[in-house]
Amino acid sequence: MNLNNQDPENYNEIIENLKEKFSSNFNSNFNSNFDELINIINQIFPNLIVNIFNEYSDDYNYLNNNWKLICDKLKINQQKIIIFEQIEYGENYKLLEFFCETLTKNGFVVRRKSEIIPCEHCNKAIISKDLFNKLKQNNLIKNQIPEKWKKYCSNCYIDYKLYRL
Ligand SMILES: [Zn+2]
Repeated sequence: MNLNNQDPENYNEIIENLKEKFSSNFNSNFNSNFDELINIINQIFPNLIVNIFNEYSDDYNYLNNNWKLICDKLKINQQKIIIFEQIEYGENYKLLEFFCETLTKNGFVVRRKSEIIPCEHCNKAIISKDLFNKLKQNNLIKNQIPEKWKKYCSNCYIDYKLYRL
């Protein structure tokens, strides 16, 4: 069982087969293609996918909007946010790179688990404290995300304080 997400010996063969299968994008037969690709990833790298979100929390609409812009440009539908245990490129990680590319060009966002975490209340995607601090250093982004990092969405935080959910 491959637990370090590095290329298996026959990685080239796997990529060639999958390229054929997923050469055109998913749009026409999205659900079955998506399930199949996720199953294939789970079979090859059983601990790679750690979470799947439908969207970012409203606090990070900035990221939802960016994602939408990219998808509009590529004329594809927005799909899901897939969280990988790790994302590496280059030597030993050709297959991992291929999975990232295939998902991305089909409307997914692929991020590391160190970057995106679930809101503890509603389970929408929020960004980790580390990534938050990085984005706060970017002048173009810093005013488009909440002032302070929280482990809840702002709306959930209000609910939490009012109703002690
Ligand atoms: Zn929430």
